[in-house]
Amino acid sequence: MSCELCATIGGQLLWEDSRCRIVLIQEPGYSGYCRVIWKAHTAEMTDLADADRVHCMRVVFVVEAVLRELLAPDKVNLASLGNFTPHVHWHVIPRFHDDPHFPQPIWGARQRNGQITGTADLPDRIARELASRLDV
Ligand SMILES: [Zn+2]
Repeated sequence: MSCELCATIGGQLLWEDSRCRIVLIQEPGYSGYCRVIWKAHTAEMTDLADADRVHCMRVVFVVEAVLRELLAPDKVNLASLGNFTPHVHWHVIPRFHDDPHFPQPIWGARQRNGQITGTADLPDRIARELASRLDV
């Protein structure tokens, strides 16, 4: 059985350790959309050992903090669905009032055409901030 998130990184790698990785997702109209992907096959957060669950959420909140600092979004959406993959993962999505779907979820009905607001060096800037906070 092939698993997409075992076979591929699942985005542009920004940071990783032995347990999880943070990738940047290229989504038209969105900038700084990150996913935190648990590397082992674990379907639910409550399947993780306590320490692993704490680690996972610490990483998610560091991503949120970094994105808030660098992009000053109007809102951050955190979502964990995982209906298509056996890997626990969190979407961390900076949202802006003029993004393509606001105030709907990014998977909802499109509201308008949005512009990508990120700069070319954004992945490097996010990666640097993540490393400074997570590599301790
Ligand atoms: Zn897998």
